[in-house]
Amino acid sequence: MVRAALPGRLSWQAATVSAVREETPSARTLILDIPDWSGHLPGQHLDLRLTAEDGYSAQRSYSIASDWPGDGPVEITIQRLDDGEVSPYLTDVVQAGDQIELRGPIGGWFVWRAAQPVPVLLVAGGSGIVPLMSMIRDRGRRRARQPFRLIYSVRTPQDACYADELRRRVRDDPGLDVHFVYTRKAPDGWPAPPKRIDVATLNSHGWPPDFAPDVFVCGPTAFVETAADILVALGHDPKKVRTERFGGK
Ligand SMILES: Cc1cc2nc3c(=O)[nH]c(=O)nc-3n(C[C@H](O)[C@H](O)[C@H](O)COP(=O)(O)OP(=O)(O)OC[C@H]3O[C@@H](n4cnc5c(N)ncnc54)[C@H](O)[C@@H]3O)c2cc1C
Repeated sequence: MVRAALPGRLSWQAATVSAVREETPSARTLILDIPDWSGHLPGQHLDLRLTAEDGYSAQRSYSIASDWPGDGPVEITIQRLDDGEVSPYLTDVVQAGDQIELRGPIGGWFVWRAAQPVPVLLVAGGSGIVPLMSMIRDRGRRRARQPFRLIYSVRTPQDACYADELRRRVRDDPGLDVHFVYTRKAPDGWPAPPKRIDVATLNSHGWPPDFAPDVFVCGPTAFVETAADILVALGHDPKKVRTERFGGK
């Protein structure tokens, strides 16, 4: 079955943007109708290709934010980089009804499988929340018992994607814990000044290494490398620390 699905995953196909949702002032979710979607696992991504009238084309990868209940649309969330080639087009220009080319799902390593019984630690920097949100949504839909902890680093409270949904999920689900790290501006009354993710954060808000959690770290390359190095220094098994680097410094 996996083999049969492979040619479909690697072929480019047209998808329709059925709706858009603003997540923050600089991030937007595209809700995609994909006629030949084979389904996906939480953590996988897709490749998207844009082609200009003169034939110039640009390709980028985007993680899938939605889970997969067996049918329905596929959601991706794009963080605008002001000097970027592709992301400003996706956040500012694309509209409902537009067609885009994509292929996927892609990736088999940075994937959470509900059959895995151990606790899960998710560590997100900025748009690195996207594939981790798919894992949180998948766990919620399945009513899975594995406890999840998310540490989510954002510049300011306004930059947090899915903030209302995360609040609601934490309120309704004692097995999900979310801790924010603010790097530039914290909310009024926040107990700590803005700071980058550090040993104390991962030590206090992650799972102890003795619990042997599955760890997923995602975000800009420098963020991922810093967080993964700290986790390994704290005693986590490097084989259990899965990373996805989105690029940049
Ligand atoms: C597997 C995978 C999944 C991804 N999933 C997502 C996702 O869900 N949402 C999302 O918004 N992006 C995601 N990305 C990043 C995405 O593919 C693009 O790299 C990003 O949108 C920037 O493209 P651009 O054309 O706008 O910028 P570019 O023109 O490619 O780059 C502009 C400048 O920004 C820097 N830069 C590139 N990427 C980043 C970054 N991630 N952070 C900081 N600086 C950067 C470059 O070094 C360059 O200086 C993913 C990347 C990978 C590899």
